[in-house]
Amino acid sequence: MSPAEYKDIYHEVVETQGAAKQWGYVQEECAELIAIVHQHIVRGRKSLDDLVEELVDVEIMLKIARVIINKDNPDIWEKWQGLKVKKMADQLRLGWRTFK
Ligand SMILES: [Mg+2]
Repeated sequence: MSPAEYKDIYHEVVETQGAAKQWGYVQEECAELIAIVHQHIVRGRKSLDDLVEELVDVEIMLKIARVIINKDNPDIWEKWQGLKVKKMADQLRLGWRTFK
């Protein structure tokens, strides 16, 4: 399966299951990632595979969130992404004290 096909799957998931259910999964996967980062990095109890599995879960849910958001606001994700990356680039040149 190619990345182009992944996007088709994300659209199909939103169409068949609805946005509300997907927002629940966004919350659930983010919570799982928070827990696994703590267990892997702080406690050293979880493997790299465990960590990457949860990172990928969150990546997928963010892509599904982007499908939902961009449906009625086609440029909003890209606008914010551009602003945030520009701010990060500026901070690289100026120092990190004010980056949020
Ligand atoms: Mg998960």
